[in-house]
Amino acid sequence: MTLSTRIAGLAEAPTLRMAARCREMQAQGIDVISMALGEPDMDTPEPIRMAAKAAIDHHLSHYGPVPGLPSLRQAIASHQNKREGNVIPYAAEDVIVTVGAKQAICSAIETLIGPGDEVIIPTPSWVSYSEMVRLAEGVVVNVPTRFEDKYCLTPGQLRDALTPQTKLLLLCSPNNPTGSVYSKTQLDALIAVLREYPHVVVLADEIYSALTYGQPAVTLAAYPDFADRIIIVNGVSKAYAMTGYRIGWLLAKDKTFISACIRLQSQQITCASVPAQAAAEAALILPVDESILASFAKRRELITRLAKDIPGFRFTEPQGAFYLFPDVTALGQADVITEYLLEQAHVAVVSGAAFGCSDCIRLSYAISEEQIVECLRRINEAVEKINC
Ligand code: PMP
Ligand code: GLU
Repeated sequence: MTLSTRIAGLAEAPTLRMAARCREMQAQGIDVISMALGEPDMDTPEPIRMAAKAAIDHHLSHYGPVPGLPSLRQAIASHQNKREGNVIPYAAEDVIVTVGAKQAICSAIETLIGPGDEVIIPTPSWVSYSEMVRLAEGVVVNVPTRFEDKYCLTPGQLRDALTPQTKLLLLCSPNNPTGSVYSKTQLDALIAVLREYPHVVVLADEIYSALTYGQPAVTLAAYPDFADRIIIVNGVSKAYAMTGYRIGWLLAKDKTFISACIRLQSQQITCASVPAQAAAEAALILPVDESILASFAKRRELITRLAKDIPGFRFTEPQGAFYLFPDVTALGQADVITEYLLEQAHVAVVSGAAFGCSDCIRLSYAISEEQIVECLRRINEAVEKINC
């Protein structure tokens, strides 16, 4: 078969590829520990599992409304309205439930971007953004952020990247892979620049919003004059350990955009899994399971402490999400170090090249404390061999 040119050039998500490689090595009996995948290792909390089972037992096994169950859409709007800094009053009709946050981002890009439209992506950035933009035949405008700025986009960098063709800015906070969290002051400064460019829409990927270790993450829905220019993406995957349920969402006030996304969804997926939607609703309504955040906070403290002792690792302390993103240029090129750690230390990490930054590697600390200690021990040992 001859593939379409669009798909022929499409890369596989390097995060998922590394996870698959790691599983293959494990199946061969090799004791590899994976720090490759950004996926909470905890079980989904019991009340959420009960809600999923009840949904199945009550025969929620038919097609649902395209944009999602009305009660879940309402729960999502209420959840967003309570978020730190939110000033835009969202209603159920502003919400579309999707198959994970990934599909929400993909649908938003597909709905807005066409040939020649520029999308500004501050790098390092999550692996899928640029491929999604290319699929929509848009133009990726990567803007490298600096270690000194804790990998946050500055107003000057944003201004330099904006052109009359810019259609979208993609902002991820808390960030994958850097763990950076934009403060309200930083967001204010970026928004001030964007006020001069009314044709630009902002897609805020806030999938890690519940996982911060200092200041809470401020939502970008904090500017009333941007109500029609902001799309908020979030989901239950990370905060509730529900990656396999595949429920995410987007929120937007712009009715033309929402109805176009619903039309797209009606042709592409019909609706997200209905029992999984019932489980997601329970997650949002039930009291938050504090133990998930508490255990990530402990792991973050542990990994940053241990990583400081690894020669050649230079990093900013993550403020959110569950990734450490050390600069390893003192040791060698990120792709080579990634390969070396897999083969020699039997620790799977992801090369920063996958995130548009060849200086760094990404370590996911969504694994147990014992595994973190063992991984860092193995890495330290392997790194010492490079240094001598
Ligand atoms: N955005 C970012 C930054 C992510 O790291 C992920 C990882 N899964 C997603 C979106 C997609 O989330 P989901 O699993 O809900 O599709
Ligand atoms: N978002 C996670 C990660 O960055 C899961 C993998 C993926 O969706 O690409 O590892």
